[in-house]
Amino acid sequence: MLEIISPATSAAKARVVIFDFDGTLSLIRSGWMDVMVPMCIQQLSGLGTGESEETLKSVVEDFVWRLTGKETIYQMMALADAVARRGGKPLTPAEYKKMYLDRLWTRIESRIVSLRTGSASPETYLVPGSRKLLEHLNERGLTLYLASGTDDANVREEAALLDVAKYFRGRVYGALDDLTSFSKAILVRKLLAEAGHRGDELLVFGDGYVEIEEVKKVGGTAVGVASAEPECRVTDEWKRKRLIGAGADVIVPNFEDLGGLDAALFTGAGVSALS
Ligand SMILES: [Mg+2]
Repeated sequence: MLEIISPATSAAKARVVIFDFDGTLSLIRSGWMDVMVPMCIQQLSGLGTGESEETLKSVVEDFVWRLTGKETIYQMMALADAVARRGGKPLTPAEYKKMYLDRLWTRIESRIVSLRTGSASPETYLVPGSRKLLEHLNERGLTLYLASGTDDANVREEAALLDVAKYFRGRVYGALDDLTSFSKAILVRKLLAEAGHRGDELLVFGDGYVEIEEVKKVGGTAVGVASAEPECRVTDEWKRKRLIGAGADVIVPNFEDLGGLDAALFTGAGVSALS
């Protein structure tokens, strides 16, 4: 169910919409956190600190969440720091990232292959209602950007496999090795400084802390996608709490209530413009 967190929510002035990819539109990498969190706990346990599994879990969940939406390497830097702080000798963040991506691959390979071969339809791995929402925002004349912390080549391939790349007309950005060349923060800064947008002309859809915070910082509007994956029928309470903490104005479990969402964002809460 759609939930309006800030009563004064309005994206009536929006010109630009930034979409996060994984967990917001794409479910190809669904379950990534269940790969990353146990891997990090495994690296931290056995360092002889006497911390319980439960304590380590909350330490790991805390930094993984805080950096969700940022390039994956930042979470791996935090892991290396956490190992070093406990007196361990960490691998490099790049080595941890490779370990993580290798483990994630075993979980997602069949999904990607099924999309490549056409045995699965793109809708199987899209958050419900994504395509109608993207079409609707395009029809409204908004300019759409896709920005992800997943490696650039993967985002481009996966957006194409899900047949959503076309809605962004080339404005698809993922993580690059040079961390100074792209980030969601840099994109927001460029939209303001170079494209000349005001903060209230930005609207973001995301399931991570980073994209919500960056857009809220400059006065934009944020929709938090708190989906209980992979079905995405109901709101996930863990994500919901954290997205509200990050500043989300609206929380949705998916995009099936397009009329309600359109009303909440563009015509004032409670009045459906589409129905
Ligand atoms: Mg995400």
